[in-house]
Amino acid sequence: MKLKDKVAVVTGAARGIGLACARRFAEEGAKVVLSDIDEAGLAASCAALTGEGHSVHSVIADVSEIADIERLVAEAMAHFGGIDVMLNNAGIAITKDFMTVTAEDYDRVLSINLRGAFFGVQVAARAMIAAGKGGVILNMSSINSRMANPSVATYAISKGGLNQVTGTAAVALAPHGIRVCGIGPGTIATEMLNMGFLTNEEQRRMILSRTPAGRLGDPAEVAAVAAFLASDDASYMTGQTVYPDGGRMILNYVVPVAPDA
Ligand code: NAD
Repeated sequence: MKLKDKVAVVTGAARGIGLACARRFAEEGAKVVLSDIDEAGLAASCAALTGEGHSVHSVIADVSEIADIERLVAEAMAHFGGIDVMLNNAGIAITKDFMTVTAEDYDRVLSINLRGAFFGVQVAARAMIAAGKGGVILNMSSINSRMANPSVATYAISKGGLNQVTGTAAVALAPHGIRVCGIGPGTIATEMLNMGFLTNEEQRRMILSRTPAGRLGDPAEVAAVAAFLASDDASYMTGQTVYPDGGRMILNYVVPVAPDA
């Protein structure tokens, strides 16, 4: 029970990595506020976690709207009496040739992945500073923060910027006892892969040929890292982004892919 009696807020928690993190935080003893723009998905996920015996609360909020983030944190405080962990996880990707990206594409991706996370940090930190008990803020980055894939340029740019949100916030908030860390997953089996990362067999083979672990990651494997970083086990870690990626970032050649992988 690494997070016993802590209150955690997770954005983009209706499904995928966000839901896995919310579940793992709850399994570690936290009371969890799940937030998303997908009302039906959020209701179903909260019902599932409640059915598993966890203490959860749901808030519909769009992270591209600062007023929504403020309402989310205020509701978490009102419902569970505080906020100890904030996970800025909500994210989208638009797959497009570099030269065809429009201003609208650019603004949409950055308003959610980068601006949403920046203000998620700021709004949560304000509440944590006022409470005077410190806290942990986590940002869901990606291996694309460090790799230059021009077919998801806006996504890569947003995640590269997000690593600097993590770093700068860590320095700014250290005096308040608030740690800020990033998590940069490799290719994880969620619906996001249908946004263009993995939509056919050729893409699967290319990704696996660059993944020493020889398989995609499971959302629960990212959630385990999030639970560690959110807990006192990571008490001397701040400012870093860590990469649960099956060895992808360290690889500098391709590996053979098993025929049935
Ligand atoms: P997903 O598409 O399955 O889930 C994303 C969730 O975010 C959805 O429930 C969606 O409704 C929600 N969302 C989208 N826009 C929102 C907004 N404006 N406000 C609030 N919620 C919003 O994706 P996932 O794979 O679970 O991704 C979660 C995070 O992990 C993202 O930040 C993503 O960039 C990151 N990530 C994913 C992978 C991967 O391979 N799946 C790899 C690296 C990083």
